[in-house]
Amino acid sequence: MKTTIKVVLMNLLLSMSTMVKAEIQVLACEPEWGSLVNSLGGKQVNVYQATTNQQDPHHIQARPSLIAKARRADLLVCAGAELEAGWLPLLLRKSGNPDIQAGKPGYFMASDYVTLLDKATTLDRSYGDVHAAGNPHVHLDPERLLKVAQALSQTLIAIDPDNQENYQINLNSFTQKWLNMGQKWRKQTLSLTNKSIVVYHRSWIYLQKWLGLNEVGALEPKPGIPPTSSHLTQLLVRMKQTPADMIIYASYQDSKAAKWLSQKTGIPTVMLNISPDEGESLFDWYQQLIDRLVKEKK
Ligand SMILES: [Zn+2]
Repeated sequence: MKTTIKVVLMNLLLSMSTMVKAEIQVLACEPEWGSLVNSLGGKQVNVYQATTNQQDPHHIQARPSLIAKARRADLLVCAGAELEAGWLPLLLRKSGNPDIQAGKPGYFMASDYVTLLDKATTLDRSYGDVHAAGNPHVHLDPERLLKVAQALSQTLIAIDPDNQENYQINLNSFTQKWLNMGQKWRKQTLSLTNKSIVVYHRSWIYLQKWLGLNEVGALEPKPGIPPTSSHLTQLLVRMKQTPADMIIYASYQDSKAAKWLSQKTGIPTVMLNISPDEGESLFDWYQQLIDRLVKEKK
């Protein structure tokens, strides 16, 4: 009798476990991709973010806790185009997880689905130590972001076809809202067209292109090389002749050089969150970014 009950219970548990499919475990390299996966995956995904918007995604440590997350991930979502070249290859190797290696369905690099700006045309790296494959900061362009969203939704369906309908519904509502917000942002930012900016790193080129901002200088002498005094002195001379409208830097970047140049020239500095805060939607993040730029411009 007891054995019969046991067997019945076990069968019941088994059938329940096949009914309730486990969530897809996602490792997102940057907060923007974590936020996007949450919007597109809804209840079907459990997302862990490797970095916050207070960390420089070019340079983080493949720490043991991160390796443990990579080991259990079904899907890896990153910017790609060498943004994570300093740590992702090691993380992937140490994870020993075959599902998220390059070429597998669980390996998703956003840059693979959009055209990149700033592709190096020659083999010499005089342009800088980073981003020879093209500029990877693609999430700052609303149009490119939507293309990535479509591709990412397809990837979720490929990994978890049982929930295809849910993913489709989520993508449709995300797309609709994103397009509506995009129109609003365009109107809101008309006054930014042709404003000139100095940046810390070439993090913003997709945003610049979308808004019609002109980059007239960078605090880094070359992408990935921290500001030097000789470079800053040259920049100062230039800014005294033709001042820019704003100096822009990301929340994780050192503000010293930006503030120095601002003090010497009177050009205002603008600190922007290059990625969403933890739990923040892409809609809210982009809105505050736009609000800040519009408010701070001269
Ligand atoms: Zn970069």
